[in-house]
Amino acid sequence: MMLRTLHKLTAVLAAAGAAQAYKLLAPEELQHLLSEEYSTAARQNFDPKNTTGLLAPILRVRLPGTKESAEVRAHFRDFFTQSPTLAHGSDGSSGWQVEEDSFYDITPVPPVPGGDLNVSFTNLAAVRDPPDTRPGDVGRLTLVAHYDSKREPAGFIGATDSAFPCALILQVLANLDAALTRKWQSGADDGKHTRGLQVLLLDGEEALKDWTATDSIYGARHMARTWDEQTGDYGVTTQRKSRLDAIDLFLLLDLLGTPAPNIPSYYKHTDWAHVHLGRLQRLIRGENTAAKTKDARDDEKKDSNGKEKGVDKAEEGWFARPGKFLMGGRIGDDHLPFHNFGVPILHLIPMPFPHVWHTIDDDSDHLDMPTMVEWAQIMTVFVAEYMELSGYLV
Ligand SMILES: [Zn+2]
Repeated sequence: MMLRTLHKLTAVLAAAGAAQAYKLLAPEELQHLLSEEYSTAARQNFDPKNTTGLLAPILRVRLPGTKESAEVRAHFRDFFTQSPTLAHGSDGSSGWQVEEDSFYDITPVPPVPGGDLNVSFTNLAAVRDPPDTRPGDVGRLTLVAHYDSKREPAGFIGATDSAFPCALILQVLANLDAALTRKWQSGADDGKHTRGLQVLLLDGEEALKDWTATDSIYGARHMARTWDEQTGDYGVTTQRKSRLDAIDLFLLLDLLGTPAPNIPSYYKHTDWAHVHLGRLQRLIRGENTAAKTKDARDDEKKDSNGKEKGVDKAEEGWFARPGKFLMGGRIGDDHLPFHNFGVPILHLIPMPFPHVWHTIDDDSDHLDMPTMVEWAQIMTVFVAEYMELSGYLV
């Protein structure tokens, strides 16, 4: 991911302000998703030393076209096809369709010494649509992160960039997949389901040499073009005219996992979602505090000398409202090719970037477990509300 000083907006955005179906959870449903059971699972899955967790297998060098990159992809594929946490149907399948999009592109330097300049890249997409729907009638919430690592500095593993964001997406699915199954199997809304869930794990986000239009976001550029041309199941009798057009919200997670991130609202057309995230964080922090004993709360308010502490800066929350839209379009990242086709973008990336950004210190030692667990809580509740899972969670 790179900061750019110039950005040429070449596309007309899709009709902004289109009615957003979004259903708030009931207080007891929120409490359920914040219960110990869920935070324990998140802590286990995000433990950098837990080799059977979701994060540890990604914390390694994973340059495009290498064996290590393929092994990380196999970890993702196993999650969708073999994970016991995903609801499996009577045919044994999880209901997730997993696809790989492989292609070659020319790079300025090989990813590994002595390698070819014609490099193999592979994106992974996983889709779960409601039953008995035609693809062109479904709009998909699309959760996105890149899984490649950066060539330099040597040994860079990108714990925030973007190993943790990938693991976070999988944790959210593990938390909500059963509720999605219950909702779609309930029959209550038969014939009315138009909302699906999709995950996009992209290759080749990082520049191999220096960030340019052709040496960066290899996977995203290829995926946007391919899906724009994928019109087979989409057409004159369906709502959406292409696979690309079937993305209702492109939710990109990047550079996450360090404490107290400041996540501005970058795009006016998805500002409504940013408002929800701020609201959810305040609700979640309120519930988490209420769950502690009163004595523990009183102790926290005092410093080591027993005096009352001032308000911690971090307590203000991550989704600041001042300064919104200022950086919109100036951050080079995987959303750009999709944005240029008019896809609505919600970019969850801190500003400023974490201090470990693009250094060898972007490793597991600099991930903060309470922050990661809080991300899982916020994103789980947001996706539950977006997918209208109220009534099917408990
Ligand atoms: Zn990066």
